[in-house]
Amino acid sequence: MSNKQARRGFLESFGVDRANIVFGSKGGLKANSFVVWEGPSRLDGKPIVMIAAAIKTAIASNVESANGKTGAMVQSYFLRADVSPLDALASGADVSICGKCPLRGASCYVQVGRAPQGLWEAYKRGTLPVITVAELAWLVDRFSLGFRFGSYGDPASVDAALLLTIKASARLSTGYSHNDPKGAYKAISMMSADTVEDAIQARDVGRRSFRVGPIESRLPWESLCPASAEGGRKTTCEDCGLCDGTRENDSRRSIFIPPHGAGAKKHPAYAMAA
Ligand code: SF4
Repeated sequence: MSNKQARRGFLESFGVDRANIVFGSKGGLKANSFVVWEGPSRLDGKPIVMIAAAIKTAIASNVESANGKTGAMVQSYFLRADVSPLDALASGADVSICGKCPLRGASCYVQVGRAPQGLWEAYKRGTLPVITVAELAWLVDRFSLGFRFGSYGDPASVDAALLLTIKASARLSTGYSHNDPKGAYKAISMMSADTVEDAIQARDVGRRSFRVGPIESRLPWESLCPASAEGGRKTTCEDCGLCDGTRENDSRRSIFIPPHGAGAKKHPAYAMAA
């Protein structure tokens, strides 16, 4: 679908005023990142914002993603609305978007000073257009995009129904949660497991898990992430999509990966392996 066709379809669905906010006169998106939702965190009630980023990049599938593992998917960020990501990291206010994740702080694999901080600063400057969930879902569907729930922040910090609307439109999706003990997000997120015991617990309740751990600790029902160095970098999340949560009667294996990314050397798995 050409950009002009997409603009025309969007205009027919949402009206000219909205089309003029989202699309430029030549049909391309006006921005790469959009504010999607603002409201209280489900984790602690503090104000947070959801930003969908790299949408233009994902549409231009011929453009190679800066993140070699995830490929050109739409990225999503859950951030404190009133505290910068770096300040939230330092003060512990990131609990509103990270909840019980044990990697909060030095072990986090996300470089918080980069995309999360830059997007938050753009949000505070008011330079990110605001888009509705329905409009985002339309774009994701029309351009057949993959969607990553929680490039930074836990998807369980916002309402599951909102995310399911986006997921239903996505070509494929990935997501991970440390804050979903009752499985309300199981159709969106893998259960993040930090220990062998966590992975066993996930299996016992019929959930697929995503575990980071020493290579020798891989369990029989865990597959090595094919995008990892150890897995031979055979694919990217954009093409793989195995980390899309748990379906009804799901017999697929859980996913395992050795520590990677910015916080790899400080990951608790190293302490476990020592
Ligand atoms: S298993 Fe697939 S979807 Fe999951 S992290 Fe690896 S490449 Fe991405």
